[in-house]
Amino acid sequence: MIVNDNICSTNLAAALKTAALEFKLAGLDTPQLDARLLLQSVMGIDQSALISASEQALTDGQVQQFNEFIKCRLMHRPVHRIIGEKEFWGMRLKISDAVLDPRADTECLVEAVLTHLDQQRGKNAEYRIADIGTGSGAIILALMGELTNAIGVATDISDDALEIARYNAARHGLEARIAFLQGSYLKPLSGRFDVIVSNPPYIPTSDILLLEPEVRDNDPQIALDGGGDGLDAYHALFNESAKLVKPEGRVFFEIGHDQASEIAQLAAQSGWHDVRISKDYGGNDRVFAASH
Ligand code: SAM
Ligand code: GLN
Repeated sequence: MIVNDNICSTNLAAALKTAALEFKLAGLDTPQLDARLLLQSVMGIDQSALISASEQALTDGQVQQFNEFIKCRLMHRPVHRIIGEKEFWGMRLKISDAVLDPRADTECLVEAVLTHLDQQRGKNAEYRIADIGTGSGAIILALMGELTNAIGVATDISDDALEIARYNAARHGLEARIAFLQGSYLKPLSGRFDVIVSNPPYIPTSDILLLEPEVRDNDPQIALDGGGDGLDAYHALFNESAKLVKPEGRVFFEIGHDQASEIAQLAAQSGWHDVRISKDYGGNDRVFAASH
């Protein structure tokens, strides 16, 4: 697809308006927001600075970069991938093509872990926590940021993802308390953990084609593909976690909105009990928790 440049030499207000109109005509869901976030990124300013500088002219370089960003968005590349950053649990995280764009709903998984630990020994206790399939590091970084005396281990099959996660840990001053290990699921782990948490790939392979292009064509396949029935990862997680969770410990896994009963069944078959399912912000089943 050839897309012409949309913006010529202009000021911020006009650039924003033109981009938002292009996005609206292309049928994007949030044209105004997308245009604003992309322009803020080009200018390196926040929303209030953008408003107060609305008459400011863009340099030629800024016009060129904004046009590139607009073209990418019109080809359904998600805004945060274009910008290369996403906010999760109030932390700015770098993202690349090697990692899932962290989802707001995954904050419910973080919240469930924190609520449990708060009730167990309080947030200041010394916990050992594992995050399996860490991607950008979103989950383990959010947890380590809240649990100041905890230590973490995060795994991923992808070295490129781990590189991003390590970068994000350093950016937030958390690298000293997290070990990042390459390998499949829990294979790189030893010792016992208070909590094992994971947002594994859980989309059934044949459903991936049906996802919106922002997800299907941009999130890494390996981050989405849960095998034929979407449950491949949970077999490994349930089997391998049994020997690695402390007797009083607990596992917390993100699940697909329609997978709760199948996953609870699978869990029971490998000796997990005290199952609890909680919902995401949209009211869908999203978080599975259990003890062994
Ligand atoms: N935890 C991140 C988040 O919530 O934003 C990323 C979750 S993404 C859905 C799943 C992650 O699991 C990806 O980073 C992918 O590379 C990783 N992964 C896929 N198969 C794996 C395996 N066999 N062992 C370890 N990690 C795996
Ligand atoms: N929740 C993501 C989505 O539906 C999928 C991530 C995953 O498979 N864990 O796009």
